[in-house]
Amino acid sequence: MMAAAAAKEKGADVILIEKEKTINLMRVGIASVGSNAQKRAGTQINKRDLVESLAAFAQHNCDERLLNTWVDNSAESVNWLEDHILKPNGAHFRSEPDAMVTSKAYQGFPTENDPAIDDQSFVSYGDWFVKYQEETGVDMRYQTSLVKLIKEGDTVTGAIVKDLAKDEFYQIDASKGVIIATGGYSANKKLLENGIL
Ligand SMILES: Cc1cc2nc3c(=O)[nH]c(=O)nc-3n(C[C@H](O)[C@H](O)[C@H](O)COP(=O)(O)OP(=O)(O)OC[C@H]3O[C@@H](n4cnc5c(N)ncnc54)[C@H](O)[C@@H]3O)c2cc1C
Repeated sequence: MMAAAAAKEKGADVILIEKEKTINLMRVGIASVGSNAQKRAGTQINKRDLVESLAAFAQHNCDERLLNTWVDNSAESVNWLEDHILKPNGAHFRSEPDAMVTSKAYQGFPTENDPAIDDQSFVSYGDWFVKYQEETGVDMRYQTSLVKLIKEGDTVTGAIVKDLAKDEFYQIDASKGVIIATGGYSANKKLLENGIL
């Protein structure tokens, strides 16, 4: 959803395909460093201490460049979500100061932003986000499953998809690119090797 919105903002024609009948639940607590909600609450997090703690927790079996990308850019994403999806619907993010540390093995950092209206309960924003996509012109196609990526050389130029309701396959040409956000694809060796799900 975020990738589709970002591509649309940059002027692309965007088709979002989702194999399920709806977008389902969107998660609530979202982590960041230095979001506007965190600034309002005076929440301060040392980025380098956080990266070091996360890397140490993983016994340094991780790519710290990814962690640094996240600490440096997560606030922008959370702020976008607050400004474009929550605020127009009377909600906002609340900085959660309780890092919920349950073990002495690692240090907790108060990175969580919780969507709220009354600062006490969570609010669900999935429907608001779907409405935003529709209003900005993202073509949302449900019950549509990615079946196969189309490649020219090493470049992905489109996809074969299946309309599950009609039991029909069709091709989408995507000259500007295909973003795969199917959850956990990096563990799907077949997809990575052959471009096939
Ligand atoms: C119960 C629970 C609570 C959680 N709470 C939080 C929380 O509060 N905060 C937090 O930050 N994280 C939370 N998480 C983790 C978070 O939900 C995931 O890390 C996140 O959703 C992963 O995002 P994603 O976009 O990579 O994948 P997903 O959210 O899994 O999205 C992938 C989408 O791709 C679709 N898809 C898959 N294959 C295909 C295909 N072939 N064709 C078309 N569509 C396809 C799926 O139907 C799905 O809608 C929670 C997870 C669970 C299970």
